[in-house]
Amino acid sequence: MRRVDSVVKTMIAQEVYRLTATIKKILESLQVTPGKKIDLRRDYDPGYTGNFMSKQDAEETTAAGIRLLAEQQDKLYAQNTYAVLIILQALDAAGKDSTIKHVMSGVNPMGVQVTSFKVPSAEELDHDYLWRSCVALPRRGNIAIFNRSWYEEVLVVRVHEEYLGRQQLPPLLNDRDIWSRRFREINNFERYLTDNGIIILKFFLNVSKEEQKRRFLERVEEPDKNWKFSAADIDERAFWDDYMDAYEEMFNTTSTSYAPWYIIPADHKWFTRLAVVSAIHDTLDRLRLAYPEVTPQQKEGLLAAKAKMEQENGDTDAGKKKDKNKSGKKS
Ligand code: AMP
Ligand code: MG
Repeated sequence: MRRVDSVVKTMIAQEVYRLTATIKKILESLQVTPGKKIDLRRDYDPGYTGNFMSKQDAEETTAAGIRLLAEQQDKLYAQNTYAVLIILQALDAAGKDSTIKHVMSGVNPMGVQVTSFKVPSAEELDHDYLWRSCVALPRRGNIAIFNRSWYEEVLVVRVHEEYLGRQQLPPLLNDRDIWSRRFREINNFERYLTDNGIIILKFFLNVSKEEQKRRFLERVEEPDKNWKFSAADIDERAFWDDYMDAYEEMFNTTSTSYAPWYIIPADHKWFTRLAVVSAIHDTLDRLRLAYPEVTPQQKEGLLAAKAKMEQENGDTDAGKKKDKNKSGKKS
């Protein structure tokens, strides 16, 4: 009965998705076409919501996406072949944390690891910049979410070039070409990962400066949100334009056919969630995930195990009868 319920729910979810084929069009417009030069401020509106008019309007589709994603993850895990790496980048208060919380609400925690990358520690600075990420890469069958990533190395470090001074780089390597080298290194590394079966999805949550201010004020005014407030975040706002420039160049050089960037409108959190879950679902869909099929030999093994267990039951039942007879004799 429970299995029938589940099949019906899947069919409903698929139906909801089919009805919103427009999502595919929306996703296409949010993906940075490899090789195409974009203008971040001009081409991408943080308030965009496609043909969805309200939170209520998007809710059903988002829920369907979350359900279908949970099923895909089950197969991904069982198959133990691909791994998925989801990279989230954004300015402060764009909603990275809440996106992770909502989009991943249906998946099995056993197959998902979230890593938040902070200011590098002394030990991390003693290594090359990809080192700390390597140990957090997903194993096959798993999804890893990077809350910030190696891209900080061409974003915050680029905006605050003085941070390079902490990286103990040989002086000859700390030159003007460092950013183009890093872009190349990142592209090569991502190519290597995808060539090894690690699927990469990269999301930039694009919040507007006005909406960020509104969310910061909310963090000050609402006691339950005070803990999220950081005075340093306010200082970082002063570098808004520098960040936009750094992000723009990053998209123009690191959105590739094998690891594309999605620029997700982030002024309406309900739309951010819908777009992110849809992009993940769409990518996994193309992998044609399926539960592993057993070989005739394995099937034979399964039947033999079943027969053995039935035999065990038979023994127990026989044993019980024997005991009953025994106790019958006594009375
Ligand atoms: P949060 O995500 O709000 O907890 O903040 C983490 C902070 O760590 C942000 O200000 C990031 O810019 C900073 N951060 C992350 N990675 C790096 C990095 N590789 N170099 C310098 N700062 C970084
Ligand atoms: Mg922060």
